[in-house]
Amino acid sequence: MKAHQPEDRPEWDRTSEWSDIRFHRKRIKPGTMRTIHLPLLDVNLGDRWPVPVTVIHGGRPGPCITVLGGIHGDELTGPSACTHLLSNAFTDSGKPLDPATLAGTLRIVPVVNLPGYRMKSRYFPDGRDLNRQFPGDPGGSTTKRVADQIWNYLVADSDAIIDLHSAAKGRTNMPQVRVDLSHTSSYLLAKSFGIEILLDSIPPKGTLRRTANAADIPVITYEGGGADFLGDQSVKVAVHGILNSLRSMRMIPGNPQRPKFRIMASGSTWLRAAEGGLLDMFVSAGSVMREGEVVATISDPATPGMTVDIVAPEDGLIIGAATNPFTAAGMPVGHFLPISKHFALLEEQIDANGHFIVNGSLEERVWREEHEINEISLHGAWSGEDVDSEWVDSKITNEKEFEEEEAA
Ligand SMILES: [Zn+2]
Repeated sequence: MKAHQPEDRPEWDRTSEWSDIRFHRKRIKPGTMRTIHLPLLDVNLGDRWPVPVTVIHGGRPGPCITVLGGIHGDELTGPSACTHLLSNAFTDSGKPLDPATLAGTLRIVPVVNLPGYRMKSRYFPDGRDLNRQFPGDPGGSTTKRVADQIWNYLVADSDAIIDLHSAAKGRTNMPQVRVDLSHTSSYLLAKSFGIEILLDSIPPKGTLRRTANAADIPVITYEGGGADFLGDQSVKVAVHGILNSLRSMRMIPGNPQRPKFRIMASGSTWLRAAEGGLLDMFVSAGSVMREGEVVATISDPATPGMTVDIVAPEDGLIIGAATNPFTAAGMPVGHFLPISKHFALLEEQIDANGHFIVNGSLEERVWREEHEINEISLHGAWSGEDVDSEWVDSKITNEKEFEEEEAA
């Protein structure tokens, strides 16, 4: 991947040989698309968990890009965005993903964790989180075997990967990209997505992003919306961002649509409940906050008449918010990005509800050159060393038990 420059390369090498490819023993001709069922388990007996992978093998040479949705089976933004991209509105003749004109190969997997999706669960049927098992192990646990299969068929030969997620149960995220900015090709991929908020982070061990980055494969994680929920804005921004990245890589015609500014944040603040009870959120993910404005109120049915407010500690943006009203003291209520110094930029892009208008969430198209973007670095550190580590996840304990069980 070292040779690839997704953003700046003027044109993919058009002189290289471009011919049929094979995916899981099926042949795909240039200028065609084909949906192939990739078994997640390489077995002769029992369920093989076949998962549809659509391969659009372009008529012209170019890179191989993989878009993954539903690694967590209950996160629906990715599955929905991928399904849109595979519709006639995108793949018909003359449309953006027309196989005849596409340069390169695009692989789209709407739901990687199809068994989890069928159970409306984040996890695999053995209770494990696929996104902690990479690069997998063909002789390991069920989910480790799945990770190994995904790694071999969808990750290892990708020139870049866009991994689509939503917040876990009980919370929601405004559209944002997570990326290790020190990994240059991932940074270029993140920029090409054309979104305002980039969280510079190294994800936990065993995640697809961390493992693929270690193998020098550029990866970005897109986050938008929440589990068991489908929001128009998150899906729109995902589709818009993927098309932007493909345009930047010269895989599809047209110029990428760029944001007015780009915030590259390396830290955030957690707004926590000081008291327990019922949480009444006044704002939601994407709300632009002035210092001192009320984010939420906590009341307790056992002690009527008393309420406690949670306020914005400074000017900034709610990038993630709790959606579950059951609250105990110390629980995170909001994931807050302090942006006091650059608040004027946020204020220029606010809708009637006080929400930040993310690039791509409106139909309006504004063309901008890369050098016209105002880039802002926000210094800090992620609490607990991971962007989301302060959110409570009941299954994390189980995950640890599994690790111990495996180690034993
Ligand atoms: Zn996820």
